[in-house]
Amino acid sequence: MMTSTPLAFPIATPARRSLLDMDQAALADFLAELGQPSFRARQVWDWIYKRCAGDFETMSNLPKELRAQLAATATVTPLTLVAEVVAHDRDTVKALFQLHDGQTIEAVLMLYDARRTLCISSQAGCAMGCTFCATAQGGLARNLTPGEIVAQVLYFARYLADPALPPDTSAERPTTITNIVLMGMGEPLHNYANVWTALHRLTAPDAFGLGARHITLSTVGLAPMIDRMADEGIQIGLAVSLHAPNDVLRTQLVPINKGYPVDEVLAAVRRYVAKTNRRVTFEYALMAGINDTPELAQEMAGKLQDILCHVNLIPLNPIPDSPFQPTSNEATARFAQILRDAGVATTVRLRRGIEINAGCGQLRRAAIAKTDRG
Ligand code: SF4
Repeated sequence: MMTSTPLAFPIATPARRSLLDMDQAALADFLAELGQPSFRARQVWDWIYKRCAGDFETMSNLPKELRAQLAATATVTPLTLVAEVVAHDRDTVKALFQLHDGQTIEAVLMLYDARRTLCISSQAGCAMGCTFCATAQGGLARNLTPGEIVAQVLYFARYLADPALPPDTSAERPTTITNIVLMGMGEPLHNYANVWTALHRLTAPDAFGLGARHITLSTVGLAPMIDRMADEGIQIGLAVSLHAPNDVLRTQLVPINKGYPVDEVLAAVRRYVAKTNRRVTFEYALMAGINDTPELAQEMAGKLQDILCHVNLIPLNPIPDSPFQPTSNEATARFAQILRDAGVATTVRLRRGIEINAGCGQLRRAAIAKTDRG
């Protein structure tokens, strides 16, 4: 792998006002306080979301004095890059960002053929405590603001548009983000309001403008929030991390299952499908000797029979010193075949970025360990 910046934590700087945390009205108020006419808000808004400007100097149709004033009091880049790691095949790029208060989050860009999929975080840390997950180990630090969620997308939009940056091996090098998945650090439905504000910003035609169907939110199954999501106007995709088809095993892997047992989650998914008519994805991280037996595949198939769904099997990204290891290719294929034979649409997801710690929270954990060691 190639590391373009050292794994080290600079001292957090005091925050300037993040314009990414303002809606259009708040931005207009902010600019009015600086003595600016109302049309300036629209100009700045377009620079941020349509042209993905990374600084005020670029905003060439603003007066020079205003640009200087904004640079002194505000920011459009609330994330500081701490480390960036590019896989050897240049198909996966992972960034570790520091927030203004010193917290860190990760985002991963994956290139699949014509798709440029970005996996973003919704919280610094996570409260869900999944036993196989690197992020869970530090608990939840705090929710991300809408601007901090959107900033991950804008960072990689600039990244892809910059011909000087990798991945740059192909003449058809993609230059825009085509898909976003909320599958990074955190449980998005545990930070509901901020995540939905960010999603509105990412999908609004007068903001970033990505089609809602190109966005997927992944949850461990906070059932009441799945119901709430079904009533939202934005038709983004829903993925539920199941990882086990019964409560005994699932509670060991996903402790929040105690509050929202399998059948309750599946009932919420059925209601979601009935309301939205959208197919739901079930994510299942296969762990050797833990949740990969033929019996569990049969049980899973039985539970999903009547649901409009698709199963994504993911051989686990192993974390150091963990008893959870990825399932073999043979066991993965066997598990997939049992589901397919039972009529459940199933795919095996490529395991991307093993060499760059691309599993959720792994780069952050490696960086913290390195910092702890000095
Ligand atoms: S797998 Fe996702 S929900 Fe579970 S602890 Fe990790 S970040 Fe949180």
